[in-house]
Amino acid sequence: MSAPALWDDYPYRVVSSRRVTPVIQELHLTPDAAVMPYRPGQYALLNDRDYQVPQRSYSMANAPRADGVVSLLVTHVPDGPTSTWVHHQLTPGGLVTLSGPYGTFTPDPAEQGPVLLLAAGSGLAPARALAEGLLGGRPSRPVTLFFSARRAADVIDRSRFQDWANTRSGFRYLVTLTREPHAVDRPRIPDLLPGTLGDLTGWEVFASGPPGFVSGCATAARALGADAAMVHTEEFFTEPQPWTEQPPSPQLRKASPR
Ligand SMILES: Cc1cc2nc3c(=O)[nH]c(=O)nc-3n(C[C@H](O)[C@H](O)[C@H](O)COP(=O)(O)OP(=O)(O)OC[C@H]3O[C@@H](n4cnc5c(N)ncnc54)[C@H](O)[C@@H]3O)c2cc1C
Repeated sequence: MSAPALWDDYPYRVVSSRRVTPVIQELHLTPDAAVMPYRPGQYALLNDRDYQVPQRSYSMANAPRADGVVSLLVTHVPDGPTSTWVHHQLTPGGLVTLSGPYGTFTPDPAEQGPVLLLAAGSGLAPARALAEGLLGGRPSRPVTLFFSARRAADVIDRSRFQDWANTRSGFRYLVTLTREPHAVDRPRIPDLLPGTLGDLTGWEVFASGPPGFVSGCATAARALGADAAMVHTEEFFTEPQPWTEQPPSPQLRKASPR
């Protein structure tokens, strides 16, 4: 008997597409057939039904829901084929394929200590899914979400997270603006961690977003006492994938999830 597939292709339909910052589009996708199972923090490969756009990785931006709806936060990369397609061509009603789930940017089920989510830009996607999953889990773990944006207009979901901070015990929300023109200083998360959180011994840490941001956060977290095995990283941009010019063959897609 053959082993069951660990991942597969799932047709989803776009139910909404809206600009949430000047460069980030949020999609809501509803399953057109089977629901793709996943854990908060994981990602899927997205492409059109005919494999005309290059397949790219996007983290699910919500914890799994009973209705199967998945949200994605997609940053527009100028001249990037897939993010441009999402921003300018993919509209409600359109069919896409999600393939997955992939990734190990997920909490250790044996851990019960506090969790620190460090995110920049669309790196908020897995952080938001993790926050939803952890706060809804049993036992619930204390969660601190620290979000880095360039300017106020780049902050995603501020009112939702502020509401959580006011109403859910164990949730803390911090934002830093690194390029706000009128700010006195423009501190970055790695510089702020010692003063805001201090000792991270026993914390499980997740950093997601652009590579420089992620590596800076991971280094700072380890310097503050977080165990290296408890510091998880998800870097979002990679060199163009080998199938940029060609639709991928099924074998290539299965063998090279990123
Ligand atoms: C595990 C994983 C999860 C990811 N999750 C998300 C997500 O949730 N949301 C999201 O928006 N992206 C995410 N990405 C990045 C995404 O897969 C694509 O790389 C991105 O959307 C660009 O695709 P593209 O086809 O438009 O451009 P590409 O042809 O892939 O890129 C064009 C050029 O731009 C560079 N580049 C790619 N992304 C960026 C960027 N953000 N800023 C500056 N330069 C960039 C590339 O290195 C390349 O040189 C994730 C990547 C990985 C590996």
